[in-house]
Amino acid sequence: MDLLEHQAQELFAKHGVPVSRSRVATTPDEARTAAAELGGRVVVKAQVRTGGRGKAGGVRLADGPDAAREVAAAILGMDIKGHTVRKVLVAEASEIVDEYYVSLLLDRSSRAFLALASAQGGVDIEQVAAETPDALARRQVDPAGGIGWESALRLATEAALPADVRGDVADLLVRLWAMFREEDATLVEINPLARLADGTVRALDGKVTLDDNARFRQAGHPRFVDVSATDPLEAAAAERHLNYVKLDGEVGVIGNGAGLVMSTLDVVARAGEQYGGVKPANFLDIGGGASAEVMANGLEIILGDPAVRSVLVNVFGGITACDAVANGIVQAVGLLTSRGEPITKPLVVRLDGNNAAEGRRILAQAALGGVRTEDTMDGAARLAAALAGKGA
Ligand code: GDP
Ligand code: MN
Repeated sequence: MDLLEHQAQELFAKHGVPVSRSRVATTPDEARTAAAELGGRVVVKAQVRTGGRGKAGGVRLADGPDAAREVAAAILGMDIKGHTVRKVLVAEASEIVDEYYVSLLLDRSSRAFLALASAQGGVDIEQVAAETPDALARRQVDPAGGIGWESALRLATEAALPADVRGDVADLLVRLWAMFREEDATLVEINPLARLADGTVRALDGKVTLDDNARFRQAGHPRFVDVSATDPLEAAAAERHLNYVKLDGEVGVIGNGAGLVMSTLDVVARAGEQYGGVKPANFLDIGGGASAEVMANGLEIILGDPAVRSVLVNVFGGITACDAVANGIVQAVGLLTSRGEPITKPLVVRLDGNNAAEGRRILAQAALGGVRTEDTMDGAARLAAALAGKGA
């Protein structure tokens, strides 16, 4: 889960990383009130989950409450790289002398935690890394021991930060590591880490990614979830504990096992090239024990997607054998009909593995309207793609 800047700032404050005083506003009037409460010059910042807000005009200074109201009116509703601005952060303006960059992250390629720092902050760090890689200092962080003060100081030195701020930056990095670990983050980035006129440093922007796999032990994190940004089908699927991801094609896909579903997506996309470029509409893994109810819930979600023109059910029978899955499909179709949502789009079923023959026999005998079986994954993908094909 990626946090908005104001949520990142909240975590920084909680862990003793210096930030500016600020308020969140959703209307120009709220922004005016916020600026009046903060007093003095403020900066009004678009709260969207993308970088480059400054360049897009989503970060603007305002001299007082009235100016803050005006600037907020201009920023609210703006579109920044496809993200509509619904909230702004109104923060006391800082007088910036220098802009640095620091981050902690889980680097999957080196299977380690990394701490990065650069004296060239404020700008796009990917550009710094590409054009002047030496300007980006990096150190591995021991997952058990964390980053100690000496190690943090060495990083600040290697990044060529001015000598008189290195100590403060080292303090900050130690706190940032505590936040990273305690909040189960996979990325914590401060850009810019600003040096102010009085010589202190402050996090002026924050990008934080929290590890969703740790949500079970992070009671405070659900409040960060932005329900308005979640796809309604994905939200409905999450409510039913289904492992569903919406994609932008036309062939609904259900399978058991993430690996099988992933390869089904590939096979459907390949087959779809022959039928006007149809693509998979979703990822849905119903897991091992595919009960009729789980199957019905899965079908309901997929059929609720107006873009779906056909559905491919691809099951490899294991512990839950194909006859049980076939019975599940038959019952699911009945269940949906009884819920007043009969299946109106063609369903292609491929059963293989444990008790496949019996499963196919059950489906053949049930003779459900609109349900067809195919023996191979390729054949099933081709038929589902053809049925979803333009003009089908
Ligand atoms: P981003 O463009 O999405 O990364 O948004 P940032 O929060 O990093 O803001 C972009 C730029 O706006 C920063 O690099 C600063 O130069 C400037 N900025 C942000 N906050 C302040 C502030 O309090 N005072 C001043 N003078 N400039 C600021
Ligand atoms: Mn930034």
